[in-house]
Amino acid sequence: MRVVFIGPPGAGKGTQSARLVKHLGITHLSTGDMLRQAQRDNTELGHLAGEYMAAGQLVPDPIILRMIGERLSKPDCWRGCLLDGFPRTLGQAKAFDEYLREQGTPLDVALELKVTEEELLRRLAGRGRSDDSPEVIIQRLKTYEEATRPLINYYSQQGILETIDAIGTTDEVFQRIVEAVDRHRHHSST
Ligand code: AMP
Repeated sequence: MRVVFIGPPGAGKGTQSARLVKHLGITHLSTGDMLRQAQRDNTELGHLAGEYMAAGQLVPDPIILRMIGERLSKPDCWRGCLLDGFPRTLGQAKAFDEYLREQGTPLDVALELKVTEEELLRRLAGRGRSDDSPEVIIQRLKTYEEATRPLINYYSQQGILETIDAIGTTDEVFQRIVEAVDRHRHHSST
């Protein structure tokens, strides 16, 4: 099964993804985590990405596509994966669709986590990550609106969008996610 998570920073993608991959028995791929790991490892990719991340901007598509392409080809992704934080632009989504078509493994569901702006700001303020300063948060929300929100329409047109009300306890939100995913499970057995 292949699942993508879409939602603004602070919507709970990381927390819910971690639970959902356990539930579905698939591999968790977070492009944000991969980039932070590259920074810790001091690689060229880490250096390249660092400035964009610190500014709350997106790392350019070619860099992301190379990174995720290498990762997706590894055997632990063959039986399925959950992408958390990818795609984040229409360009990424189209390139990803092309890849999935070549592999003959369609995307089953795109989960949109929906939260009010007030709640987002409250959650982000409590998180304490280095790219969570108020200025960077505002930029990251703006980046989401401009670059990533169009994906909602894109996946809606494909008939695979599920919008989840992400206000509530972690358990309540997870329950909604599982129900939404179950509606799309018949699409593929792997
Ligand atoms: P995240 O942990 O998903 O919030 O990502 C943290 C930061 O990494 C983002 O603010 C971007 O700068 C960068 N990033 C993560 N995923 C992507 C992506 N798919 N495309 C571009 N930039 C990304």
